[in-house]
Amino acid sequence: MNAYPRINIHLDAITENTQHMVSVCAKHNVKPAGVTKLACALPEVAKAILAGGITLLADSRLRNLKKIKNLHSQTLLLRLPALSEVDDVVEFADISLNSELVTLQALSDAALVKGKRHQVIVMHDLGDLREGGFFEEETLALCREAICLPGIELVGLGTNLACYGGVEPTYDNQNQLVALARQIEEENDITFQFISGASSAGLGLMMGSELPSGVNQLRLGASLLMGIGLNDDPVPHTRQDTFQLEAEIIEIKVKPSVPVNSTALDAFGNKPEFVDRGLRRRALCAIGKQDVDISQLTPVDKNIIVIGGSSDHLILDINDCSQDYKIGTAVKFDLSYSAVLQCMTSEYVYKHMI
Ligand SMILES: *Cc1c(COP(=O)(O)O)cnc(C)c1O
Repeated sequence: MNAYPRINIHLDAITENTQHMVSVCAKHNVKPAGVTKLACALPEVAKAILAGGITLLADSRLRNLKKIKNLHSQTLLLRLPALSEVDDVVEFADISLNSELVTLQALSDAALVKGKRHQVIVMHDLGDLREGGFFEEETLALCREAICLPGIELVGLGTNLACYGGVEPTYDNQNQLVALARQIEEENDITFQFISGASSAGLGLMMGSELPSGVNQLRLGASLLMGIGLNDDPVPHTRQDTFQLEAEIIEIKVKPSVPVNSTALDAFGNKPEFVDRGLRRRALCAIGKQDVDISQLTPVDKNIIVIGGSSDHLILDINDCSQDYKIGTAVKFDLSYSAVLQCMTSEYVYKHMI
C-alpha cells in the first residue's frame, strides 16, 4: 500500500509482547485481560493479541467490542456502562466494570430479557479519583445489592489507578483491594473469580514480586501494544517498535524561519512564536492537527525539527539532514500513546498492517 499518511502496525511485535506478558503474568498467578482501545479494537490487532495467548479482550467502548464480536473471545467492557446502552452491553460484553446501583438494576433487567446473566466486576476507588466508590461502606453496600439482582452475577472487585490522579499501584493499595474483596466474599458467602488490580501501570509492582498474591487480573493495553507501562517507561523484554507514522512530503523550499510581519493569531487561535535560525530548508507534509497532536510526533531522523503545522499541514525543518528528502518521500515518526490513539481514530490516516 502506498497511500499516506499511514500508521504502520507491526502485528508480530504485538503478538510477541503479548506472549511475553502472558507468560510473565502466569508466574505471578495473574491472567491478563488484553485491552484493545488504543487500536480502536481493529480486528487484526485483536487477533494479534489473541494469538499471544490472551483469552479475555477488554475495551472501554461498546462500539469497539461490537467490532470484535466475531472473534468469539470473552469480552470485558472497561468504561462504566451508560444507562442508554445496557441492552447492547449485555449483548456484546460478557463482563462489565460497574459502580452504580441503577445501572446494575438496568443491566439485570436487560440480561433477564435475553435469558442471560451478566457478569459484573464492581469498581472501588483507591484514590486515583476516576470510577468507583471511594468509601469502603459504599462498595460493600453496592456488592450486597448486586448479589440480589437476578440478572447479575457479581464476579469480582476491581480498581483503576494511574489514569486521572497519577496514583501509582503499590503493595499497600493493591492489598487494600484484596482485603476488601475478602471481606465482601466472606460477608456474602461468595468466591470472586477476579480481583482486578491495575493496568499496565501495575506491571513493575508485579515483576518486582510486590503484587499481593490475591490480585489475579491486570488489564493490559499499553504494555501489549506499545511495550510501555507506568509513566510510559519501557517494559523490560518487550518491543516498542509496534506503531510508526509515515507522512508524505508535498513541498520543499528554502525560507526564513520567522514570518514576515507576524501580527495575527494562527489557525487555532494561538499567538505563534518562532525561533530565528535564519534561512532554512523546510518540508511540508500532508498531515495535520486534525489527524494528530503534532507535538507528540518524534521524527525517526534525529536531524529533523518539527517546526509546527495547521489543520492539514505539518512543517519540518530538514536543513541539517543528511538524507536526501524529495517530493514524495515518506517521513517516519515515532508516536506517543496519545498520538497512536489519534492516528488510529482518524479516518484520514491509513492503517497499514505489517
Ligand atoms: C485503558 C484501561 C486499562 C488499560 O490501561 P493500559 O495503561 O493501556 O494498560 C485498564 N483498565 C481500565 C479501566 C482502562 O480504562
